[in-house]
Amino acid sequence: MAGTAYVSTAIPYVNAKPHLGFALEIVQADAIARYQRLRGRDTFFMTGSDENSLKNVRAAEAEGITTRELCDRNSQAFQALLPGLNIDASYFIRTSEEMHFKGAQKLWAMSRPEDIYKKHYTGQYCVGCEEFYTEKEAPNGICPEHERPLETVEEENYFFRLTNYQDRLLDLIESGKMRILPAARYNETVAFIRSGLQDFSISRSKQRAGGWGIPVPGDPEQVMYVWYDALANYITGLDFENEAPAYQKYWADCPDKTHVIGKGINRFHTVYWPAMLMSSGLPTPDMVFIHGYLTIEGMKISKSLGNVIDPLVQADKYGIDAVRYYLLRAVSPYADGDYSEDRMRDVYNADLANNLGNLSRRVETLSEKAGYAPAPLDGAPEAPEGFHEAMADYRFNDAVGAILGLSDALNQRIEEVKPWELQKAGNTADLEAFLGEMVEGIRRIAYWVTPFIPGAASQMRETFAGGPVKRSKPLFPRIQ
Ligand SMILES: [Zn+2]
Repeated sequence: MAGTAYVSTAIPYVNAKPHLGFALEIVQADAIARYQRLRGRDTFFMTGSDENSLKNVRAAEAEGITTRELCDRNSQAFQALLPGLNIDASYFIRTSEEMHFKGAQKLWAMSRPEDIYKKHYTGQYCVGCEEFYTEKEAPNGICPEHERPLETVEEENYFFRLTNYQDRLLDLIESGKMRILPAARYNETVAFIRSGLQDFSISRSKQRAGGWGIPVPGDPEQVMYVWYDALANYITGLDFENEAPAYQKYWADCPDKTHVIGKGINRFHTVYWPAMLMSSGLPTPDMVFIHGYLTIEGMKISKSLGNVIDPLVQADKYGIDAVRYYLLRAVSPYADGDYSEDRMRDVYNADLANNLGNLSRRVETLSEKAGYAPAPLDGAPEAPEGFHEAMADYRFNDAVGAILGLSDALNQRIEEVKPWELQKAGNTADLEAFLGEMVEGIRRIAYWVTPFIPGAASQMRETFAGGPVKRSKPLFPRIQ
């Protein structure tokens, strides 16, 4: 299938190290990008870091270094996730880079003039969220996300006239032109829009921003609200400023643009962002896929609980594929999930060591003994039943289930046919026919399992690429 596709993660703030919750998101997005590429789609996968936050200014002050030094250092930790989790991203955008500044300013400048106005404003602000809260959303002036007191902020800001977009947003979403998955999040967005939209602040004074951030076009005393500029990354990373070929191909003309985000930032992506794009006369995303939150051993991830798990430490301990596999198979894509090392070992041993790994090992051994040499694979093999249907809705766990089902069936066939008896009896014709059937099945698995466990998939594809089959190193040694 030809065509183009675009996939992105949200860009995390760099004021803390990447935790497992973001690992979930980047692995999900990578699985989508790899799947699109397997289907022959020319796919752009964007990830990056959000660096224009007030939080960075304050963290740098506390450490006695410049904001840029802090961002340079902390952004590295996020860039390290790419090799560390085998993420095949096309570009890592840093919102402190020139291309982003220029692109975000262009997006702003292209807004319809009637959508942006200046107003004196007093509000309750959470620096942690970089968001204003109403009394209803944050009773007693306490941030619901951070459980910390809000700050009173009083200044003149630019506002975006979101109220102009109420009907157009509902139409965009209810017509299915921009899909939202899962259904619970779709309902949340529609209810939010129907409850009545309010204009939102899109700038702050340069002084309050500590001089850090993107100047508002034509008003050097104001910088963009960090959310306005952060959302723009999805196109600035394609060099929107110059409307470069990448922007044309992967955004303007692309029929399949997906944002992968966490449930805490739904509103920004399904309401604010499409409205900003419409105001500037630009195409809106086609899909917003919203994952839940991860707990660790049943507890909320939090620095104060000391249970922040470094995904790269887990990958060192269990293997990159094992961590990716857990996040895609053992965590529901649509609901909150949990990461537990006991369960990690169970899932690894049951699915990877005993099922997939065992299958590959048995067929390698049988083939090598028999001197079996399959013909090279021609084109993409057929996907296991139900696989594409699951991937269309980003039900990664079910897509993996379809692969495991095929692997189970092949393991069972080995028990039924008992190829070692064919070998003992010298029944070469039947043995070769059977091995042909096995290799065909393994090739289907090795191809379509790539989005989930790309390392092991690549090894399997090499082992069964055609020509004499040789035993390779065990794919998934059992964890004791
Ligand atoms: Zn907060």
